[in-house]
Amino acid sequence: MRRLQTREKPAPLGIRHGDMVKVMAGRSKGKTGKVLSVNRDKNRVTVEHANIMKKHTRPNPSKNVRGGIIDKEAPIHISSVMLICPGCGKHTRAGHTKLPDGTKVRVCKRCNTTFES
Ligand SMILES: [Zn+2]
Repeated sequence: MRRLQTREKPAPLGIRHGDMVKVMAGRSKGKTGKVLSVNRDKNRVTVEHANIMKKHTRPNPSKNVRGGIIDKEAPIHISSVMLICPGCGKHTRAGHTKLPDGTKVRVCKRCNTTFES
């Protein structure tokens, strides 16, 4: 089901593609995984191995797609996931600071480790 023209306000959470996140709510609560994709318009992220749905597909010979039921990650709302800090290993919120050379980085609110390397 696709809602028409529902633009949510972009959440100020600094979650990006490739980040490790923990799922805090919903069916996959407690699972951790890598962010596979971010949908800024809908404030949703797809997390590896979380929120697996059975997806029913029709065979499409021109795209070489076989019909059947496949497991696929479904997007979850950005407020249901939290970043995992590479420094302290805990779920955390990201703050933003500027490095001395002027580049903006995201930092862990718990231990101030930067997320960008
Ligand atoms: Zn930390």
